[in-house]
Amino acid sequence: MEDAKYVVIGAGVSGLSFANWVDSDDWLVLERDDSIGGYCKTIKQDGFVWDYSGHFFHFKHKDIEAYLVERMGGQEVRVVNKVSRIYHNGRMVDFPFQKNIHQLEKSEFIDCLHDLYFKPDRTPTSFKDMLYVKFGGAIAEKFLVPYNEKLYAVDLDALDVDAMGRFFPYADTAAIIKNFRAADNASYNATFTYPEGGAIQYVEALADGLDRTKVALSDAVTAIDLQARVVTTASGRKVRYQELVSSMPFPTLLSLCGRTPAPDAYSWNKVLVFNLGFDKKGLEGVHWVYFAGRDVVFYRIGFYDNIFDTDRMSLYVEIGYPRDAVIDEAEVNKQRAAVLADLAKVGVVDGHELVSDHHIVLDPAYVHITKTSDAAVAAEKAVLAAHGVHSIGRYGSWTYCSIEDNIVEARTLATKLST
Ligand SMILES: Cc1cc2nc3c(=O)[nH]c(=O)nc-3n(C[C@H](O)[C@H](O)[C@H](O)COP(=O)(O)OP(=O)(O)OC[C@H]3O[C@@H](n4cnc5c(N)ncnc54)[C@H](O)[C@@H]3O)c2cc1C
Repeated sequence: MEDAKYVVIGAGVSGLSFANWVDSDDWLVLERDDSIGGYCKTIKQDGFVWDYSGHFFHFKHKDIEAYLVERMGGQEVRVVNKVSRIYHNGRMVDFPFQKNIHQLEKSEFIDCLHDLYFKPDRTPTSFKDMLYVKFGGAIAEKFLVPYNEKLYAVDLDALDVDAMGRFFPYADTAAIIKNFRAADNASYNATFTYPEGGAIQYVEALADGLDRTKVALSDAVTAIDLQARVVTTASGRKVRYQELVSSMPFPTLLSLCGRTPAPDAYSWNKVLVFNLGFDKKGLEGVHWVYFAGRDVVFYRIGFYDNIFDTDRMSLYVEIGYPRDAVIDEAEVNKQRAAVLADLAKVGVVDGHELVSDHHIVLDPAYVHITKTSDAAVAAEKAVLAAHGVHSIGRYGSWTYCSIEDNIVEARTLATKLST
């Protein structure tokens, strides 16, 4: 039996942030994977630099950003003015759709404006209903509903009104109409930063200065004894803790603690990401493009080559799936072919040759935030906290958030537990 005051599950952004800011040397990180980073990993292949999926950074806490950049060893970090577009019926429209309906073909514009003016006057009951109530039927049906259905792979009526929190680009009628004359498409991430070496650089910065012998890789936690405060790992290690900080998905944590996750509380999607490298440059001046149309398999693509102005098209392509979908080799091969055909159909691939490719399945990717899930997570977190177990992170808190949010949450907990 080993002892550590703080045992941390997961060497992603949340776990490493906790280890970074806790005021003690008596900690141990246990990580299932053979490298650090969690979902914030970077792949370097055939001269291309790809993340698990496009990971871009928009820091509200300048102190956190400065702390990380200082630890990047002179790495170039670009600050980029985001350009994002929507592919709609054969044309590119600026993002967000609801503020740029004047860029649509005339009859579609009239439909959207009409329905926006005569939108229903009621309190929305679900995420889907909110789209109709805020923007009217045409904006909802032409883009917001089909896009979010493709992304979340779920009936949007099942999601909470506020399922996307601050990440949803709200706009009132006046702001939409003002935008017809003077474009103001600013959003929470109007600019983003990105390091030359990919998103993993932020993780490496968090790990810089940590005693790496206390970050145990390739050793998953397999059981947690709440009463004895002991974790067991796949390799047979047993570690007694005073406080356990977990960043693994919340329902999995509950199961390992011997608690049964409420079956109706936890739902999520998976995302299959293709990273694709081509022999020559493609579209320029755009960072990512959204696709709501059901005739195209992906919901979003992004151009890494337009961040660092490199000379070969380097894309990530995202496809949403329900949580129980089987994504085996046959499915991946089928979808890779569909992606390449659809990229050609929408004009992104135009005589390009694919020279390098990679894929990854993110499971879970987006959790489905409902009133039931929020209540279940809050109630179970209180039970676990009474046993010295603290669940943090995007999946540990079962939420929609950014990497900066993960750092803030972990730092706050580290400060609280250090006092
Ligand atoms: C498609 C997509 C795009 C995104 N884009 C952005 C973006 O542009 N900007 C941004 O800020 N954020 C983005 N995010 C969010 C970002 O990826 C997460 O907020 C962040 O990576 C979560 O970090 P974490 O440490 O909380 O969790 P994770 O990265 O999931 O880390 C958890 C760690 O726990 C480990 N683990 C799990 N089970 C066990 C076990 N039993 N034992 C030991 N270890 C275990 C895992 O291997 C993993 O390393 C995106 C997310 C997705 C899905």
